[in-house]
Amino acid sequence: MDSRYEVVIGLEVHVQLTTKTKIFCGCSKDFGQEPNSQTCPVCLGLPGALPVLNKQVVEYAIKTGLATNHQIAPRSIFARKNYFYPDLPKGYQISQFELPICEHGWLNIETEELGKKKVGITRIHMEEDAGKLIHSDGNSSAVDLNRACTPLLEVVSEPDMRSADEAIAYLKQLHQIVMYLGVCDGNLEEGSFRCDANVSVRLWGQKELGTRAELKNLNSFRFIKQAIEYEVERQIDVIDDGGKVVQETRLFDADAGTTRSMRGKEEAHDYRYFPDPDLVPLVVDHAWVERVRAELPELPEAKLQRYQDELGLTEYDAGVISSERAVAEYFEALVGLHNNAKICANWVMGELSRALNENDIAIADCPVTPDLLAGILNRIADNTISGKIAKKVFEEIWQSGKTADQVIEEKGLKQVTDTGAIEAILDEIIAANQSQFEELKGGKEKLMGFFVGQVMKASKGKANPGMVNQLMQKKLKG
Ligand code: ADP
Ligand code: MG
Ligand code: ZN
Repeated sequence: MDSRYEVVIGLEVHVQLTTKTKIFCGCSKDFGQEPNSQTCPVCLGLPGALPVLNKQVVEYAIKTGLATNHQIAPRSIFARKNYFYPDLPKGYQISQFELPICEHGWLNIETEELGKKKVGITRIHMEEDAGKLIHSDGNSSAVDLNRACTPLLEVVSEPDMRSADEAIAYLKQLHQIVMYLGVCDGNLEEGSFRCDANVSVRLWGQKELGTRAELKNLNSFRFIKQAIEYEVERQIDVIDDGGKVVQETRLFDADAGTTRSMRGKEEAHDYRYFPDPDLVPLVVDHAWVERVRAELPELPEAKLQRYQDELGLTEYDAGVISSERAVAEYFEALVGLHNNAKICANWVMGELSRALNENDIAIADCPVTPDLLAGILNRIADNTISGKIAKKVFEEIWQSGKTADQVIEEKGLKQVTDTGAIEAILDEIIAANQSQFEELKGGKEKLMGFFVGQVMKASKGKANPGMVNQLMQKKLKG
């Protein structure tokens, strides 16, 4: 990065909502259905059909707004955004314009240089999505209106981010929040969470913003970072060559890792916005807002802090566990049943997530419930089994759904803590390895591991390793 310039980024995110039905009609919004099978006169834009606002969409907008510190407007307006495109049957998109439902929000992000930083969010408004064009052969295009009228929230940030990394931190934070709230499935690839990045550069100390380019076609966090970094370099080159950055929309080319011009400002649309006469102003009273506020879950940022302050987790562990709501809920249930939070975290991030990944299972469907896992952890804590045997028990429970106590009993996995039994094994091993034992006595300490290992092996992992060590020390002295 060129140190003479400061990077300025503002992001527009389209969040597709997980409601059952569309924003202005009762059609289902299932993904991947037969083209045009999820349509009705309203979403087909047939003359005379009237939109009816989906209350759930409003509820989700309020939720998202509150979770990102917005003020909820008591009265907001839907407008018509007019333009022509074959995937837009009415010739206009219904969107909130002058009076959106949420304004003046913000999010905290973690930055490398500054630690916590506040990023302003200008607004969140509700709107409908357009349909899709299918270019199946070279000569014709088909129109699929299943997606038409799908509810979206558009989240518009202030130009507050100063690097691609800050932009990604903001997006991940927002992504986590909408997933926590359950208002979006969060799939970037399928377009459920779409981001346009506005990027400009200016000389350090300059007050006015530089001219921006708006980057589109960014369907992964990696591409967003790549596109912004490329665009910053490009703009600096243009300026250094004595040129001027022009305001335009640019498409990211994932194969080339570059951006290229799609349309300039001259070609920008005049949308001729005006209030939609088919929809009355939306009124949201105080009681509604407060009811939604009361139902908000604890958010990832709060959990991240609490796991460190109250449960003593490291920032890293707290971050991993709080990043997904289902994981956090599993962990919290587990901590309720086993009091060593650090050990709970280790198992959730280690053995449990490994097994979930290997079997491609969501944590919500995990066969080893918090109850069952706590059963294992409690048996490690009271020395019934070792950590190593515990992994075997875990596998068994995963397969059979039995409790830890059942598995330990049936498979005879109880740790041997009977001194006499361990000593007998140890004596046999010493007898079989006399020369090594003499060397160990003579100071070759590395051999300690060998003897403990042999005892563990002979006991099939069931000897208590601490006791084996103690007994060995005694033998060496005696
Ligand atoms: P539009 O609807 O034309 O895309 P807005 O003016 O509402 O426009 O801005 C959209 C986004 O662009 C916002 O997130 C805003 O923060 C960002 N933005 C505006 N000006 C700049 C700039 N000069 N550099 C970077 N981002 C900018
Ligand atoms: Mg824009
Ligand atoms: Zn419909």
